[in-house]
Order: sequence, then structure tokens, then C-alpha cells
Amino acid sequence: MTTRQGLAILGATGSIGQSTLDVVSQHPDRFEVIVLTANSRLAELSRLCLRHRPRYAVVGSPEDALKLEKALRAAGLATEVLAGPEALAQVAALAEVDSVMAAIVGAAGLAPTLAAVRAGKRVLLANKEALVMAGALFMAEVRRGGATLLPVDSEHNAVFQSMPADYAGALADKGVRRILLTASGGPFRTMTLEQMAAVTPAQACAHPNWNMGRKISVDSATMMNKGLEVIEAHWLFNAPAEKIDVVIHPQSVIHSLVEYADGSVLAQLGNPDMRTPIAHALAYPERIEAGVTPLDMFTIGQLTFERPDNQRFPCLLLAYRALRAGGSAATLLNAANEVAVAAFLGGQLPFLRIADVIKAVLDRIPVAGLSDLDAVMTSDAEARTAAAACVAAWS
Ligand code: NAD
Ligand code: MG
Repeated sequence: MTTRQGLAILGATGSIGQSTLDVVSQHPDRFEVIVLTANSRLAELSRLCLRHRPRYAVVGSPEDALKLEKALRAAGLATEVLAGPEALAQVAALAEVDSVMAAIVGAAGLAPTLAAVRAGKRVLLANKEALVMAGALFMAEVRRGGATLLPVDSEHNAVFQSMPADYAGALADKGVRRILLTASGGPFRTMTLEQMAAVTPAQACAHPNWNMGRKISVDSATMMNKGLEVIEAHWLFNAPAEKIDVVIHPQSVIHSLVEYADGSVLAQLGNPDMRTPIAHALAYPERIEAGVTPLDMFTIGQLTFERPDNQRFPCLLLAYRALRAGGSAATLLNAANEVAVAAFLGGQLPFLRIADVIKAVLDRIPVAGLSDLDAVMTSDAEARTAAAACVAAWS
């Protein structure tokens, strides 16, 4: 490669952002960090700017922008520091940016990710919530903008690697029978409902196999993460709900599988380390070193599989329900989940009530068609209000 790939890393201070910078650091000849963004952890962003010397940095507030700019100037850096959601959308579309790592958590990532898509960038998608809340519009913009969408979520990256080269269109035409998403089962896989009733945010965030941000850790504990991923797979691979199944695989070594008409099942395996899918998406279609420990089958010994338990983990079925309902249902599901998870993390809502909040929102708000982004944001806001009312009633 003669010219370096210009990168914008949205959500640089997060778990995915940091893993991305770790891979990037191993390949200074390939990648140039153009943009780093963060919402609040200013000291951490400042440290990352000193290390990677981006041309632009974006923070949440103008006050923080002034503070960061002062610190960077004092260190002799000319990085332009911007603030707020509009700046995020602006830097995602810069001419010198080739690829955008979309690693902001939650609905806040939608607008900047869409800006990258509209500008026809290579979009490395970690922010699954953006696709869940606005799937049809998002994919229409990908086609219109000529963007390349590369899945970073480990399951979708595994499916992408196991799919036929050109899977666009009907999966049946490519001989694909179904997609199997693997799930670790999370930290509460073997707990009874009675035990789950009393779990704390610290327990929910202590995932057995993956080290992740707090929101996705709780999503893994409720299994809503897998529900969001079923919807994500639907949009990424043009697969109907009945062709996407979930299998519990506690070792998190097989990251997902694709079953073909002839009986072949292709899977992607590796140690549970997000630097593998991140490196795959960064270098695609080439392969680069990621710094990941090679998989040792002899140490692993056994791989096991179970069916999901819908009684103890109702969130998975709620996600299938939203996917089948179409329209705004997944937008409502995602927004209600974000509110309920924040309330659980804030100590205002018991763990098992997270699913109750989401179900109540899906029951109460009729599904609407989503003609444009305004309609998405209206449904998102409506669901947040309804979910907050449930939290207030059940806290
Ligand atoms: P995290 O909480 O560790 O980091 C989130 C990042 O988003 C931070 O840099 C934060 O500053 C930024 N951010 C948060 N709110 C913001 C806002 N309102 N405006 C602008 N920036 C904001 O989260 P994470 O674990 O890195 O996850 C990021 C995304 O990647 C999520 O959508 C998650 O579902 C997805 N993902 C994560 C993993 C993982 O292993 N961590 C795996 C697969 C997918
Ligand atoms: Mg995943």
C-alpha cells in the first residue's frame, strides 16, 4: 500500500476505540489517524491525541473542547478541537478520511455513522444500535452513498467471513440455508430467575469472556445483545428472521456460522479478542497482524452448545418480535432498552425489570412506518418517554 488509509475513530476512548488504536499502532505504515472523538473522558482523549496526533478531535461540550485544546497546544499539537453532534457528523465525512470506525455506543452514534455512509466512506460498524434503530433507511443510504459497510461486531464479522463472496440479494440464491449467531450466554447463563432478581451492575458488567463497555455488557447479561445482533444480521445480510438462529456457545471460540444447502457449515473461530474482527475490517480484503494470541485447540479441549432459554432471557424473543413487526418496532425496542439499561446501571431498576420495560413499550406504542430520519427520531423519543415512565413506576 503506497498511501496510508485515513481513519476517523468515533468513540476512541471506548473499549472498541481503544482496541482499534491498538491494532492501528501495530501498522503505522498503513493507517493514519485523522480524527479521534470522545464524549466525556477528556484526560483519556488527551492521552490518545498525544500518542496518535490526529488532525481533528471532537468532544461533547464546548467547555471540554477549550480544555482539550489548551492541553494539546501546551504539548505542541495543532489538532483542531471541535464539539457536539454536528462536529461529529462533519468529521465523519471529511475528504481526508477514508474509513470511519463507528464505535460510539447507542443511538448517539446514528447521525455521525449516517454522515459517513452518505459520504461514501468505508464504514467499520461496531455501533449496532444505529442499524437496529434505522435499518431500512440506513441500508438505503449505504446503497445511495456507495459506502462499504464492514461488520466489526464479532458475530457479524464471522458471518461476513463465512458468506459467499457476493451475498447481496436472496440468500437462497447463494445456497445459504441459515445464519447461526453464537452467544456466550453472558455472566448469568447458569443462574436461576431468583438469583438473577438480585444481581448488581458490577456483576452484570463482569462478562466471562469479553471485556466491553458497560451498556453492551448489560445487553449481554440480558441477552438483548443477541437480540440486537439478530436484527443487525437481518439488515447486513438481507436475511429474514426465520433464517437467523441463535446458539449458546459458552467458550466464545466459534464467533458464528453459516449453513449451506449442501450441508456444509462454515464458521470463523478465534480467541475472544475484538482486535481480530477490527483488524479484519481495517485491512479488508487483506489480512494483517492483530496482536491476538493464536487459538490453541489443545488448551480449549471442548466446544459446547446449548439452546437459548427464553424463560430466563426473554429479551431475545422481544427482539425477534420487533424484527417481525417491522416499521418502528426495532426503534422502540432499542430506545426502551437504552433507557432500561441506563436505569439498571444507575441503580434505579432491578435487572429482571429491563425486559419488562421493553415489553411494556412494545405493547403500548403502535408500530408506525418509518419514512425518514425524523420519523425514526420521533419513535425513539416516544419510546424513551414511555420507558422512563415504566422505570419511574417500577423502581
Ligand atoms: P464504550 O462505552 O466502552 O465506549 C463508548 C464510546 O462512545 C466512548 O468513546 C464514548 O466517549 C462515546 N460516546 C458515548 N456516548 C456518546 C455521545 N452521546 N456522543 C458521542 N460519543 C459518545 O462502548 P464499547 O463497548 O466500545 O461499544 C461501542 C459500540 O460497539 C457499541 O455500539 C457496542 O454495542 C459495539 N460493540 C462493542 C463490542 C465490545 O467488545 N466492546 C463488541 C461488539 C460491538
Ligand atoms: Mg457481538
